[in-house]
Amino acid sequence: MDLPKQIIIATRNRHKALEFDYIFGSDVSILSILDLDPNLTWEETGLTFEQNANIKLEAVYPVAQKLFPGCWVLADDSGICVDALGGAPGVFSSSFGGEEGNHRLNTQRLLKELDGVENRNAYFCCCLVLKAPERPLQVFNGRVNGKIIEEGVGVNGFGYDPIFVPDGYTQTLAQISSQIKNQISHRARATEALKVWWSQVGLGSSPH
Ligand code: IMP
Repeated sequence: MDLPKQIIIATRNRHKALEFDYIFGSDVSILSILDLDPNLTWEETGLTFEQNANIKLEAVYPVAQKLFPGCWVLADDSGICVDALGGAPGVFSSSFGGEEGNHRLNTQRLLKELDGVENRNAYFCCCLVLKAPERPLQVFNGRVNGKIIEEGVGVNGFGYDPIFVPDGYTQTLAQISSQIKNQISHRARATEALKVWWSQVGLGSSPH
């Protein structure tokens, strides 16, 4: 496989950038928009993960090209979908508690909504959109199924990790090691799909 040496990730979330850094491994260096232009903003008005990933890509791609001509940009949108809530919070995961990016309020609200609810099935979703120079957009999806527990446990990871136990495990994503999370997560699975595609089309190296 011939991965480029550097990928720009269209995210302001440091946790996500670190997870991508781990998932891609030491041969690929990951930069986030925080490294390029921390003031760049965008409105996540999409109704699907893919729409929001495209919005991020459109905002970041021109900035990234100016700084690193010919670079590869990857946008990720992700969230948690809960069966008993009809798939909510979904694309609204990061502001579910009323304040953008406040993980404590988000998990509190989710636990409140599920108070007394028997069906605790949920899944994390990740949609990746890749823009490589002179290539059509490529979309990759990843998902991890699991259950929402009654109260948060664990300090690793971020977001809803403390209340989510993946299928086949007895601990939450915030209790298991980051190595394991980065093998089984929605983000890891979407990235795996990207790597498989990459190895099949044999894109060759990017200039960076
Ligand atoms: P995004 O940055 O707009 O994609 O928002 C994603 C939101 O979904 C985050 O703020 C978290 O609340 C949640 N989320 C996405 N991925 C994860 C994860 O791996 N663990 C826990 N929460 C996540």
